[in-house]
Amino acid sequence: RVKTKWAATSPKLSATDLALQNHDVMYNMQLGELWPSSLGCQDFIASSLHMEGSKAADSVIPPYSESLQFDQPIEGTYTDLTRASISPNVKCFVFPKGDISRFKPARPDSCGYLSYYLMDAASVLPVLALNVQKGQSVLDLCAAPGGKTLALLQTQAIRFLWANDWSGSRMSRLQRTLKSCLPSELCSEDNLCITSLDGRKWQEVGENGTFDKVLVDVPCTTDRHSLVEEDNNIFSRSRTKEKQSLPLCQTQLLLSALQAVRVGGEVMYSTCTLSQLQNQCVVEQAMSLAKEELGISAEVVDLQPFTALFQDTFYFAPDMNVGVMVLPHLTANFGPIYFCKLRRLS
Ligand code: SAM
Repeated sequence: RVKTKWAATSPKLSATDLALQNHDVMYNMQLGELWPSSLGCQDFIASSLHMEGSKAADSVIPPYSESLQFDQPIEGTYTDLTRASISPNVKCFVFPKGDISRFKPARPDSCGYLSYYLMDAASVLPVLALNVQKGQSVLDLCAAPGGKTLALLQTQAIRFLWANDWSGSRMSRLQRTLKSCLPSELCSEDNLCITSLDGRKWQEVGENGTFDKVLVDVPCTTDRHSLVEEDNNIFSRSRTKEKQSLPLCQTQLLLSALQAVRVGGEVMYSTCTLSQLQNQCVVEQAMSLAKEELGISAEVVDLQPFTALFQDTFYFAPDMNVGVMVLPHLTANFGPIYFCKLRRLS
């Protein structure tokens, strides 16, 4: 007789498997027929590899389609994402559609600075859409490891940038990145402040209603990353509580951002998840709480004219009521990235 009580110990699922399960259930419901050609198809590849006992490797599933940020334009078979009307100093290049080549790791140029920084091209969009103007002050509330901070500084428009992240070790990484990519005059003490504070308690800093622009790129379930990286995965059982509390933390961070920005200024909320609970729901909840509890009203800025400029490169999810979503697609493997711009009215 089989003692099922003892025999029925099914093998424990890995965190990446749990992420796969979560994405498949949640996003099948949310995205319907768009899901199979999005991360869903990459999940399938990852899951069959797991079943065969091998590990999903970068070479099989590219972690994302990369882009390059350059100080200087380069020559080559890249598509230039630079749009003259938007931050002309940020040079951003991707391989043409359908070309799944990977960029080489960056090397120091003749001045000792890395000649480019590799990141998911969709991650640059929230920075470009923030549209920083000459002489403005900017708060980057969750800045580390610093890809977007670097793009912000590359606009060469910012008078003062405050880069903050709760994690001290990740902030050290940000400092190393800035040092290796930018000349010191672009990030001196006069124009750059770096702190490691809990962004949810920003009001205690006393810098409220002062910034022209605020970027709040919140912690989230990092949907692509959590499918391929077991280490420190947010879907591991030990981080269940943290995962469940993400929408609350995100709402608190967005409320801080709305307090930090001046009346008439703009906040960019961004994530790298497809989850409505962490995207639209957070924006709506924060707007409502800001009004009821802080007397701060804000409006959602229409980003359609902006996304129209990048239609050829990215696949934007249709029918979004609040904000913009870059959906990874077989033909445009960028994202997922969600971003929503809010303008403070009072
Ligand atoms: N903007 C970054 C970039 O482009 O490289 C990525 C930011 S990452 C998505 C989210 C960051 O939020 C993490 O570095 C994490 O340490 C930070 N974070 C989490 N909770 C925070 C809090 N309460 N206050 C400030 N930062 C926080």
